[in-house]
Amino acid sequence: MMKSYIMALDQGTTSSRAIIFDHAGRAAAIAQEEFTQYYPKPGWVEHDPKEIWFCQRSVAEKAIAQAGIGPQQIAAIGITNQRETTVVWDRETGEPVYPAIVWQCRRTADMIDALEPEFCDYIKKTTGLVPDPYFSATKLKWILDHVEGAREKAREGKLLFGTIDTWLIWNLTGGKVFVTDYTNASRTMLFDIHKLCWDKRILDYFDIPYAMLAQVCPSSAVYGKTLTEYFGAPVCIAGAAGDQQAALFGQCCFSAGDVKNTYGTGCFLLMNTGERAVTSHHGLVTTIAASTKNHVEYALEGSVFVAGACIQWLRDEMGMIESSAMSEGVAREVDDTNGVYIVPAFTGLGAPYWDSYARGMVVGVTRGTGRAHFVRAALEAIAYQTYDVLKAMEKDVGICLGRLKVDGGAAANSLLMQFQSDILNVCVEKPACLETTALGAAYLAGLAVGYWDSREEIAANWTLARSFAPSMDQEAVRQKICGWHRAVRAARAWAADDI
Ligand code: ADP
Repeated sequence: MMKSYIMALDQGTTSSRAIIFDHAGRAAAIAQEEFTQYYPKPGWVEHDPKEIWFCQRSVAEKAIAQAGIGPQQIAAIGITNQRETTVVWDRETGEPVYPAIVWQCRRTADMIDALEPEFCDYIKKTTGLVPDPYFSATKLKWILDHVEGAREKAREGKLLFGTIDTWLIWNLTGGKVFVTDYTNASRTMLFDIHKLCWDKRILDYFDIPYAMLAQVCPSSAVYGKTLTEYFGAPVCIAGAAGDQQAALFGQCCFSAGDVKNTYGTGCFLLMNTGERAVTSHHGLVTTIAASTKNHVEYALEGSVFVAGACIQWLRDEMGMIESSAMSEGVAREVDDTNGVYIVPAFTGLGAPYWDSYARGMVVGVTRGTGRAHFVRAALEAIAYQTYDVLKAMEKDVGICLGRLKVDGGAAANSLLMQFQSDILNVCVEKPACLETTALGAAYLAGLAVGYWDSREEIAANWTLARSFAPSMDQEAVRQKICGWHRAVRAARAWAADDI
């Protein structure tokens, strides 16, 4: 029998990737292309939806060529994507009516500030989210408010709204299939995560016509086939999930209580909570996890906006290191930060603080402070922010975590991983495959078409590359965390003029 593969399309914030996986979950080919970021005004971020589509198709073609396989050998395609980013396009022509408004874009902050407290509570209860410009709802309203005639056309069913998964599937199927999956829907702030339907009261409030919304499907299901002209033969599209939920699945966090943390530009900590939608009382959001079952499963999520991005800042703006990878060697030149803390609240603080107004802070600087202390403090800040989110999570679910699975670019930093283990007093485990987001999408698609039979089968693919056990004295840990919290208070008080 001809060997077959699964192709994952990983549409991220700065680049599109396509990875071809074999049955053992190993990457047989990887292709990647960056695309343009637009910053038309301070705090605004946009993408060109057509560039995303062309770039995604191009990397898919390249990966197939690189793997030396034919389209018939691809058992299915799974899609994973940057979440919340909002696209509105014309159903007839396929033309976007406006650029994609990206998750990072803060242009709708005033719409969120204007929400009545009672309605905020309703949103939180219904969608599981803390109302924020980060989610799609206000971005979609902004497009309907600002593009001439858009709302009228949307009412007539002439315009469609989608997150990036929907946009890609619609294009791949030549406009035949208009769907999204539960995980992506749960990030729009328009979706009732308990009743599993678009919420009428929220749609009415934002004046969003129902006619422009996609059908919501499970994350592991056959949605349709790609047009023959794209890859030479039709290929079945059988999975979709937002990037963080895909990573949770790719890490094989299938049981309630399983947790993963992704260390990328930001940090995203997700805990599978099974069939229970846990409401957070400590600043986290409730979201739908990717599932292969008929019912949905939930996750608790804490998003830290600036993690690896702080290391990039040291590289690009401060000129302290030449590459992100170099941060480890520089930080190892010293044993500790010598009392220095960096709070990288460049765009405010995300979970569990949700403080849009906090700003970055460096404290504890003395005449003896050097570059290495500074770099070490930036790495430690990533671990401290994760600590805050994880402690909030433990309080919400009432359990103490035993281990943490990690992935993402900065998980390559062993000093950071060891410090994370010390600060949390848990075992940190890094898998051999760090492409967990793409792998999760591949697993979802492969399970839908019977390429893999069960979760147990794919869980056997998960292999440990390295683990880090806590080794720091717990009194020293306590003092360090105490210092971190004082630094956070300073960063928040500074912005609030409350010193
Ligand atoms: P994303 O998917 O969010 O673009 P990645 O998972 O590719 O992010 O990780 C890239 C981020 O990780 C960058 O912000 C970079 O600064 C950081 N990073 C990469 N390697 C290291 C390292 N060895 N030490 C610390 N940070 C790193």
